[in-house]
Amino acid sequence: METYTVSLKARREVAERTTAFLFEKPAGFRFKAGQCLNFTLLDPPETDAEGNTRTFSIASVPDLGELMVATRMRETAFKRVFKTMPLGTPVKIEGPFGNFTLHTNETRLAVFLTGGIGITPFRSIIVDAVRKKLPHRLFLFYSNRRPEDAAFLEELQQMESRNPNYRFIGTMTGLEKSKRSWQGATGYITKELLGQFINELTTPVYYIAGPPGMVTAMRKILHDAGVSDGGIRTEEFAGY
Ligand SMILES: Cc1cc2nc3c(=O)[nH]c(=O)nc-3n(C[C@H](O)[C@H](O)[C@H](O)COP(=O)(O)OP(=O)(O)OC[C@H]3O[C@@H](n4cnc5c(N)ncnc54)[C@H](O)[C@@H]3O)c2cc1C
Repeated sequence: METYTVSLKARREVAERTTAFLFEKPAGFRFKAGQCLNFTLLDPPETDAEGNTRTFSIASVPDLGELMVATRMRETAFKRVFKTMPLGTPVKIEGPFGNFTLHTNETRLAVFLTGGIGITPFRSIIVDAVRKKLPHRLFLFYSNRRPEDAAFLEELQQMESRNPNYRFIGTMTGLEKSKRSWQGATGYITKELLGQFINELTTPVYYIAGPPGMVTAMRKILHDAGVSDGGIRTEEFAGY
């Protein structure tokens, strides 16, 4: 694992209370779509008991010159500094690490199950697969309370038209509080919802990312559907 110092290039809101941070990608830094990094603030103006380091999945794709991460903004010292530091501020990154990457056997479906900020590694894997025209069939099940909360929503929807092997299945659990229209599914991701799109539930490779509660809930659904642990890969966003 390598360490580098990188500068913040840009910040943009990608959903309500959710911000993407773009950093320059250091020369020679290579990663695989789905991997993550440790970010450490250098000499921050404030800190708290959780310290100056957080792990974030890389949401951007490997062959571009930038590194993007995205996070839910909360009132922690780390995130306040991340949100307000001037463009050009250096931070330390360490990585990449993790093996939450797309399997090579293109005959097996890839099914991505996530909600909220757990979308970050899947945004990287799916955009990468579309750009490289990978032959894998990809199904993204993406649950949020409202469209306003769903990071990268339009982009993930629109990529269906660029890759016939990719299906986007968004579902909203709190639409009554939304001001936006929504034509897709509502309610939680369930075995029944999966079954509407996937004929044989026991054969795909399943990827689950997000807060530990989400990962546990999705794993239970898959077990109930007869999927063995051998077909399930998970990335727990410890800290939520
Ligand atoms: C492999 C991996 C990949 C990850 N990828 C991402 C990613 O792409 N994007 C991302 O956002 N996060 C990701 N995380 C989680 C991330 O590292 C942080 O733990 C998370 O963002 C929380 O950081 P924080 O500063 O908000 O809270 P921390 O200060 O780290 O809080 C730690 C604890 O305090 C509690 N806490 C703090 N604030 C609140 C609050 N407002 N409400 C409730 N409880 C609170 C939480 O229970 C938490 O356990 C990843 C983690 C791992 C391990």
